[in-house]
Amino acid sequence: MKLYIFSGSLASGKGTQASLITKFLPNAVHLSTGEIFRAEIEAGTEIGKKAKALIDVGTLVPDDSTNAIVVSFLEALDPTSNVLLDGYPRNEAQVAFLEQYVQEKNHTIEKVILLDLDESVVKKRVLGRFECRHCHVMYNDFFKPTKREGVCDVCGSKEFYRRPSDTEKTIEKRLALYRNTIVKALSFYENKDNFVRIDANKSPSEVFKEIKEKVFKNSEIKGNSDKN
Ligand code: AMP
Repeated sequence: MKLYIFSGSLASGKGTQASLITKFLPNAVHLSTGEIFRAEIEAGTEIGKKAKALIDVGTLVPDDSTNAIVVSFLEALDPTSNVLLDGYPRNEAQVAFLEQYVQEKNHTIEKVILLDLDESVVKKRVLGRFECRHCHVMYNDFFKPTKREGVCDVCGSKEFYRRPSDTEKTIEKRLALYRNTIVKALSFYENKDNFVRIDANKSPSEVFKEIKEKVFKNSEIKGNSDKN
């Protein structure tokens, strides 16, 4: 199994880029720990209940629960999968766990992709973002509002969702967490050959282009990616 780590601050576009890549990379699977926790919260499971309190205040879910959901996700996959890890590992303990796990299972960490985003852009992206509750299209008050106020452009729904953790207070906390924890954890990879830094301040399609050029060198991508 080949693993690609997508890292970056909140709203750096990790999830967007990973899902764009799943459309083109053969056997690609997107593993977002944040999405798994949000699904557990929606489903009202025990993990979800514990995670909600932590996510709402902008702190990390404990490593043992996080490592366990990652392992159970990976173990259910076909061994030929290309796994796009979105938001994991996020601290030094998770890096150490993943390194050992990968070695034991004979998997490889193909690339570590850091999406680098200015903090001023982070704030607008996070405070402005919301999604349609029905078709899940993403909007942003600053960059991409709905054409008619309060109505989804795609499905016409009037119901929208904002993540409860997207507040000024939690943004500051999550940015501090990013600077103090994730950046430190990534230093393990920073001087290795498979580490790639991407400028994430650009539009999603420009970022995607840079990732294709620097990470996949276009060779592993199938189909015509220009539509993105
Ligand atoms: P994300 O959507 O990746 O920003 O994740 C949302 C929230 O889920 C984070 O702020 C954390 O509280 C939690 N979370 C996601 N991934 C991890 C992880 N690898 N370790 C611990 N907590 C995580």
